[in-house]
Amino acid sequence: MSDCIFCKIVNGEIPCYKVWEDENVLAFLDANPAVDGHTLVIPKEHDQDIFTSADEILKNIGVAFKKVGNLLKNNFGADGVNIVNNSGKDAQQEVNHIHFHILPRFKDDGRDLKFVGGENIGDNFEEIAKKIRGEENA
Ligand code: 5GP
Ligand code: ZN
Repeated sequence: MSDCIFCKIVNGEIPCYKVWEDENVLAFLDANPAVDGHTLVIPKEHDQDIFTSADEILKNIGVAFKKVGNLLKNNFGADGVNIVNNSGKDAQQEVNHIHFHILPRFKDDGRDLKFVGGENIGDNFEEIAKKIRGEENA
């Protein structure tokens, strides 16, 4: 994709601070980090989001989580990591080249990634699970 920022990073047109790569995946520092060590993991081949990406790409990304997570833990001193993906404009995806944020976490770092429940959250789990499974009218 000629006008994709992350494709430009992959092919070297835009510089990045690389932390890890293999044949299929690149991991580099986010330019606007939420925390020191905030890393983005992307497939080198362009795809949009989790809805469109090939299984093989997602498998490669999964293995990269382990590699990058261990670098953050063993070399950067992280005690844990949060992994976040935004897929879709309404889920706050801004760059349309699929990417996963890996955020290092430290004991007592005072950060909080817990989702806070909004209003109108029901307890109709059976109905909700059926709907997600596509059995709403079963
Ligand atoms: P999104 O909101 O799409 O999940 O996150 C996009 C991320 O890409 C943001 O955290 C943003 O800081 C990062 N980003 C956008 N442009 C660049 C860039 O040119 N270089 C790097 N390293 N990160 C970028
Ligand atoms: Zn791209």
